[in-house]
Amino acid sequence: MDTFELISKHGDHEQVVFCHDKDIGLKAIIAIHNTALGPALGGTRMWSYKTEEEALVDVLRLSRGMTYKAATAGLNLGGGKAVIIGDPKTMKTEAMFRAFGRFVNSLNGRYITAEDVGTTVRDMEYVFMETPWVTGIPKAFGGSGDPSPYTAHGVLMAIKAAVKERLGGDSLKGVRIAVQGLGNVGYHLVEYLSKENAIVTVTDIDQEKVKRIAEKFHAKAVSPDEIASVECDVFAPCAMGAVINDDSIGKLKCKIVAGGANNQLAEPRHGNMLREMNILYAPDYVANAGGLMNVFVELEGYSPDRALDKTTQVYENMMQVFAIAKKEGISTHVAADRLAEERIKVIGRLKQTHLGLASRPYATLKEVKNR
Ligand code: NAD
Repeated sequence: MDTFELISKHGDHEQVVFCHDKDIGLKAIIAIHNTALGPALGGTRMWSYKTEEEALVDVLRLSRGMTYKAATAGLNLGGGKAVIIGDPKTMKTEAMFRAFGRFVNSLNGRYITAEDVGTTVRDMEYVFMETPWVTGIPKAFGGSGDPSPYTAHGVLMAIKAAVKERLGGDSLKGVRIAVQGLGNVGYHLVEYLSKENAIVTVTDIDQEKVKRIAEKFHAKAVSPDEIASVECDVFAPCAMGAVINDDSIGKLKCKIVAGGANNQLAEPRHGNMLREMNILYAPDYVANAGGLMNVFVELEGYSPDRALDKTTQVYENMMQVFAIAKKEGISTHVAADRLAEERIKVIGRLKQTHLGLASRPYATLKEVKNR
């Protein structure tokens, strides 16, 4: 398929930049999907893509997802993402990330990067040597560090909103919650849930983690195969994507699906199926926006308290999604997309009015430039 055809198919992106440095071995693609709300922000993924087309489709898909996540989160950010083609275990060099940083810099703040799958805070330090347009850098450099606790706090808010909507209560005390995956997000979520006196069941493919965390937080442990069929109020996927699929959906014995994992629905039709089963789905990108809110606060000058406070916004955002779904008689994953598209349309239109030189689309980024 032609490049522009691919771009049209995956979201009509504003700009796609191919970055190449033959001597250094850099092959990267930066995709800027939409900047109606603000600069395009999204991490840099490094992966051994089998073909360049595979890399292009991935970056187009991921950057579009960032537009929707930022828009429903209520942030003044657009959607972007970058991919570096190569094996993250063997092909990384300082020169590669510095060369990449120079390409990011050439976009003059239209795209802001961060770490993602296959890249680390250390890699971002190299990028930061060449450009200020990078977030998620270490705390020592004024960055926000690990976003996972903030993502988990946002997921807690999403669960609270879904419990309010579906079960009618304000408290998680005695609410039965099954958490799949005890990594960075799952661990912090279980910690929050135990403080709320929820009844927690956990699983992970790493048995050592399961034992340690189940003991520490007095949670019940089950095998990874059992978690989707645990009788509970909330199923919280915090591991891999596509967990709601043709195989798992019939086994669910929950009233709510609300977790931190990305792309929980294998296909959009699974969101409609959940609705038909009277299972309330808290759309993943609305639920897991706490990490993005955290880096947004970093752009404004980081404060951990402000970041944590910002993630409480996930509760209202989720309630808004549920309200749209009810009003329009549609599934919640469709309602989340509508909320994003409406905000982009309305706020994007505001910017069409020229306000002279006093108008600054995103003032605080100026401070970032001067770091
Ligand atoms: P992680 O790699 O730290 O943790 C994932 C955990 O899931 C690991 O402990 C792994 O052993 C476990 N796991 C993998 N397959 C499993 C299976 N089949 N059954 C049970 N457990 C399994 O990742 P993370 O940072 O905690 O992220 C978890 C999810 O949340 C991912 O989908 C990620 O994309 C998404 N997410 C994370 C953040 C963040 O701030 N870290 C932000 C937004 C979205």
